[in-house]
Amino acid sequence: MMAFQTPALPYAVDALEPYIDAKTMTVHHDGHHVAYTNNLNAALESYPDWQTKSAEDILRHLNDIPEAVRTAVRNNGGGFVNHNLFWTVMGPKGGGTPTGDLAKAIDSAFGSYDGFRDQFSKAAATRFGSGWAWLVADESGKLSVTSSANQDSPYSDGFTPILGLDVWEHAYYLKYQNKRADYISAWWNVVNWSQVAEYFAGLNK
Ligand code: MN
Repeated sequence: MMAFQTPALPYAVDALEPYIDAKTMTVHHDGHHVAYTNNLNAALESYPDWQTKSAEDILRHLNDIPEAVRTAVRNNGGGFVNHNLFWTVMGPKGGGTPTGDLAKAIDSAFGSYDGFRDQFSKAAATRFGSGWAWLVADESGKLSVTSSANQDSPYSDGFTPILGLDVWEHAYYLKYQNKRADYISAWWNVVNWSQVAEYFAGLNK
């Protein structure tokens, strides 16, 4: 049995239509995400001690990973964890705005929800090439917006991601082609704020 397993999508492949199309979801989950998982398992095949750790812990301690497989683990462990989060922070009844403690923390960090949304959208739009935009928390629970290249994970920089947007072309090209900005603005309609609030509430802070 493989150490790491690709979680099933928590909704049907067409559940995020019309914002994210079923074909993109199928290729993205069954193709890209499964490949990251398989490649992570392959990279750690000869390192059983590391197979017992969570993938998040592995990414927090990348420098301790044997050098021979460190780049493969960085790329594929990142791909595994980033997509695990991505599917869960979207949903068919998404959109709207955050509420409760999360809304207060966003107001405190960014001035307002609109201020947050502008900053996050800009991080996603200006990430050159492949990567992600993130809403992350530091050890005290303070929120900030970041972006990362490729499949690099906020865990490797000491942060905990609670919302992420995949801006690799594979995430949007079938429907949006070169119009990344249109994908970003559509994506806000599928954000599952109640799940993001659960991640925020679960932080050790
Ligand atoms: Mn992706």
